[in-house]
Amino acid sequence: MTTAAVPDITSRNPAAPADVLVRIPAPGAFATADAVERARAAQPGWLLAGAAARSSALGAVAAALHDAADELAALAVREVGKPLAEARAEVARAAAIWRYYAQAPFEPTGAVHEPAAGPGLLLTRRRPHGVAGLITPWNFPFAIPSWKAAPALAVGNTVVLKPAPEATACAQRLAEIVQQAVPAAVFTVLPGGATEGNALVSAADVVSFTGSTPVGRAVAGAATARGVPVQAEMGGLNAALVLPDADIEQAAGHIAASIAGYAGQKCTATSRVIAVGTALAPLREALSEALRAVPVGDPADAVTVCGPLIHEGARDQVVDAWKGLPTLAGGTMPEGPGWFAEPTLVEKVSPGHRLLREEVFGPVAALMPADDLAHAVRITNSVPYGLVTSVHTADVNTALQGLDLLDTGMIRINAPSTGVDFHLPFGGSKASSHGPREQGRAALEFYTSGRTYTVAPAGRAT
Ligand code: NAD
Repeated sequence: MTTAAVPDITSRNPAAPADVLVRIPAPGAFATADAVERARAAQPGWLLAGAAARSSALGAVAAALHDAADELAALAVREVGKPLAEARAEVARAAAIWRYYAQAPFEPTGAVHEPAAGPGLLLTRRRPHGVAGLITPWNFPFAIPSWKAAPALAVGNTVVLKPAPEATACAQRLAEIVQQAVPAAVFTVLPGGATEGNALVSAADVVSFTGSTPVGRAVAGAATARGVPVQAEMGGLNAALVLPDADIEQAAGHIAASIAGYAGQKCTATSRVIAVGTALAPLREALSEALRAVPVGDPADAVTVCGPLIHEGARDQVVDAWKGLPTLAGGTMPEGPGWFAEPTLVEKVSPGHRLLREEVFGPVAALMPADDLAHAVRITNSVPYGLVTSVHTADVNTALQGLDLLDTGMIRINAPSTGVDFHLPFGGSKASSHGPREQGRAALEFYTSGRTYTVAPAGRAT
C-alpha cells in the first residue's frame, strides 16, 4: 500500500535561505478540526473563570512578551527577515496590545433599559461566540496574532491560530508564552497552509483573517456561507499625495520609509507617489535621494531598514514589476545568499500597468504627476484597493478636503502611510477589507454577539 506524501511546513531565513527554522509534516484537516473541538470544550471554563482571571492572564502574557523581547525580536529577524529595529518595535507593540486588552474583561458588556410597558428589566449583554479561528500572514508574526487573540480571549472566546507557514517558529514561540498564562486548549497554534486554514474556517465559531485579497475573499465567502461572523484584512495599493506647499524633505523621508521599510512588505506600504503641480520636481529629487540613502542588507544589523524579501518568488515578482520602466532610484537586485531588491522609484508608468493595479508587496513605487488635488484624489481612488493614504501638506484646509474625498479606510496627514496605533480601529475599503474593523474597542464587538434579556416579575402583580 502506498500512502500519499504529507506536505511539509517549512520556514527558512530569507536572508540566508540555507538556514531552515522549521520543517514539520503538515497536521492536516482532521488535526485542525480536533484542535477546534478541544478549544470548544475549554471555552465555557475560560468564560466562567471570570473577568479577573482573564485580565490577569492577559497581563501575564504582556509581561512575558516584554521579558522575552530581545529573543523574540531576534527570532522575527531570522524567520521573516524583519530588520532588527522594526522587529523590536513589533514585539513591544505586541506586549502593549496584550496589556491594553487586559483591562477589557472589566468593561461593561451591556446596558439596562426600561420596558416599553409594565414592570421588569430589559437587559442587553454581549457574549463570546465560542472558538475564534484566526488565520494570519507572516509579515507581523507577533503583532497580528496578538491583536486578534488578545481581544478574542479577553471577552471569553478560546482561540485556534493558524499562522502563515513562513512564520511557524514565531507562532510556536508565541504559543509557549500564551500557554504559560492560560488553561489547556484555551490558546492553540496549529501550523499549516491552505488545507488547515480551510479546515479552521469550516469549524470555528468566528473567523478573523489577515492576508492577501484572493485568499481573504475565499475565506470570507466560506465563513459567510456557514453563517459565521468573519472579518478579512487584505491587501493595499496605497498612495502618498504631496501638495506643493508640503515640507518636501519631510515628505520624502516619510515616503521613502513607507516604500522601503521591511522591503515594502506591509499592507500599509506606499506604492504610488502622487505629486501635485510644482511639487513634482523637488519631490522627484528629494525622494530619489532619500531612497538611495536607505540602508539595505542584513536584517540583524540594527541600522538596516530594507532587508530581504520573504521568498525567491516574491523577490522575482518585484524585479519583474519594475522591468523596462525609467528608474529614478534603485532598480537592481543586490547579490546575496538572501532575496534582496533595492528600494526603487520608477516614473512614466502607463495606466493599466501592474504597478498601478496590483499589490506587488516589495520596495517599489511609481511616481506620478497630478494637475491639482482633485486630480490626485481621482488617481488615488482609481484602484481596487482602499487601505491607507498619506497626504503631505502645510495647509489644514487641504488636509480636510483630503479627509472628505479619499475612499481609503485610513488617512494619515504628514505621516508615513505605515504605522498604526493599536488601540484604534484598523481597516480599509473595497478590496482591502471585509467586515468589521480590527483593534481597539471594535475588536471587542467583533468577538461577541448581543443578547437581549427580558426579566419580568414572577407571580401575579397584586
Ligand atoms: P496569504 O493570503 O498568502 O496567506 C495568509 C494566510 O492565509 C496564511 O496563514 C495562509 O497559510 C492562509 N491561507 C492560504 N490559503 C488559504 C485558504 N485557501 N484558506 C484558508 N487559509 C489560507 O498572505 P501572506 O503572503 O501570508 O501575507 C501577505 C499579504 O497579507 C499581503 O497581501 C498583505 O497586504 C496582507 N496583509 C494585510 C494586512 C492588513 O491588515 N490589511 C496586514 C498584513 C498583511
